[in-house]
Amino acid sequence: MAHKCFISFKTEDISYKEEIQDDLDIDMIDKSLNEAIDSDDEDYIMRKIREDYLSDSTVTIHLIGSYSAENSWLQNQIYIKRELQASLYNGENNTKNGILGVALPSMYGNIYKGEYTCSSCGGTHNYVSINNETVVKEFSYNYYIPKDSGCCWSEEDRYCVLVKWDDFKEDPNKYIDKAFDKKSSPISSKTKVRP
Ligand SMILES: [Zn+2]
Repeated sequence: MAHKCFISFKTEDISYKEEIQDDLDIDMIDKSLNEAIDSDDEDYIMRKIREDYLSDSTVTIHLIGSYSAENSWLQNQIYIKRELQASLYNGENNTKNGILGVALPSMYGNIYKGEYTCSSCGGTHNYVSINNETVVKEFSYNYYIPKDSGCCWSEEDRYCVLVKWDDFKEDPNKYIDKAFDKKSSPISSKTKVRP
């Protein structure tokens, strides 16, 4: 079954959004939030986003490029932050979306930093750099959801799903399904809308 997707992206990465739209077989809602909603009332804005943009989508595809970090210099992240917040919001007629982060090629080196030997368990883990230098907090918090014990995060400990663009392109619906399934998994109760 195809899940309806909303794509959250920075204008600089629009070519990837267009490629998803034109070349990949994905059922998506083509709306983006680049035109501002004219209001100072944050609750109203969030409600509008949910109603007008996200209401019938179940998965949010978040493109992670060179301009999407919390600490990106001179970047206004208000739109992608709101889109992710609205996606994570669990409302009465509008349950939260699954979140699929797609790391764009320019970010591979910044995010996937190889393996390291863990000082706490002695095992080998992958170093996946998802933090304020690579993504906004709404993504990083719900990727590395704080936990009480253990040295690393297993797939079940995360709400956000992360995939490289090249892998995503090969089989988009596999990863969309994975993000969709998170909605009904236990970790879904631990997400945060505004970290
Ligand atoms: Zn370990």
